[in-house]
Amino acid sequence: MEALAHFNAATGLEANLEKSNVYLARVDERVKMQILARTGFSEGVFPIKYLGLPLSPKKWKKIECWSLIDKITHRIKVTYSKQLSYAGRLQVINAVLFSIHSFWGAVFILPQSILKKVDQICRDFLWGSSADKKKVALVAWDKVCLPKRQGGLNIKGCSNWNKASVGQLLWQIIVNKESLWVKWVHDIYMKNDTSIWTHKTPIDCSWYWRKINALKEHMQGWYNHRRYMLTQTGKYSITKSYQALMGTKPRWNIAELVWTSMAIPKHRFMTWLAVQGRLLTQERKLRLQIQVEDIACCLCEEKVMETNVHLFEDCKWTSTVWQAMHQWIEVPVHNIGIVQVLENIKGNRWKQFKKEIMAAICGAIIYHTWRARNWRRFRDIRVHTEEAVTQIKKEISERLHLLSSSKRANKCRHFIQHLLCN
Ligand SMILES: [Zn+2]
Repeated sequence: MEALAHFNAATGLEANLEKSNVYLARVDERVKMQILARTGFSEGVFPIKYLGLPLSPKKWKKIECWSLIDKITHRIKVTYSKQLSYAGRLQVINAVLFSIHSFWGAVFILPQSILKKVDQICRDFLWGSSADKKKVALVAWDKVCLPKRQGGLNIKGCSNWNKASVGQLLWQIIVNKESLWVKWVHDIYMKNDTSIWTHKTPIDCSWYWRKINALKEHMQGWYNHRRYMLTQTGKYSITKSYQALMGTKPRWNIAELVWTSMAIPKHRFMTWLAVQGRLLTQERKLRLQIQVEDIACCLCEEKVMETNVHLFEDCKWTSTVWQAMHQWIEVPVHNIGIVQVLENIKGNRWKQFKKEIMAAICGAIIYHTWRARNWRRFRDIRVHTEEAVTQIKKEISERLHLLSSSKRANKCRHFIQHLLCN
């Protein structure tokens, strides 16, 4: 009460008796009554809301966690239309869902079942699945959660991100950070231990303490004595820890071309799917045992099965578009499969900006081929190659105008001039 009086004198702020509660633990009835009488506060019951977050000394009950899940599904249902492109949905997931998740996940250890559910909501939203209409996940979630340079979409999967966040608490104990919580941990749980690594969790410890200790087996390798080795500064990084939990995958050497800022976002996403052969072509549908009526390519008259290779490499429709592009750019790029085309662009001795323009053109062709295929198949509308070519030229030119004032662009201004004048 003396502290509150000091606080009042210094700030002029006064505790509101009606809105204030006192929370007591392991206090006998007599002492409790004395405290309540002395303070004038009434006794509060857990869980309470503090800064918008539920606060509880025990493991969260499922029902409390559902409030997080509700928040996420609500925002998807209300704010965003199902008409969003993949690229749009990716942005929603990264921005909105992740902000909610990192806000909660940075403060609490969330139960695995809840984290899995949040991941599932993100996954379903990305691929357009809903309760009444299931859609195929075109790429596995584990892959989607990898960084782009390793072939993923850089979505921060909840499960591992939460572990990485909570790893920060472990780090604080290891470096013996100056904080009330660390002191408390050393006094209560680690009285007889010199190191957290050799500490054995008592049977009667809290769920939180058990969870923090369960992380040790994943994280011990990141420390040399008491130094965190994943950053140069030795300061804990959630991102670095997350990446380490995901495991190091080989670098995907065409990632920078697939995701180049020269390309329109929805083209980038489509290119990412196409280079992995993950678009739902008729052939892939057959393999996934999805019923298809007509397996032939609908863009040409050749009556051959619609495969990824046929659509983007052999099809007459696509070849015509490529030829028109050759005439425009006056650079010979042989369409020998999308991956090979991008690898050839990368291996060329062009300026980086020119490589990215070429990759963006390749991405635009992929996008418009797939779009023409969908319009023909689902709306029975035929898109002529001339229309697609005009559209691609328009989109690339707009992109060039947007980015042509950069320093990088200046290094290949002749090529850019050529494209804009033809
Ligand atoms: Zn065809």
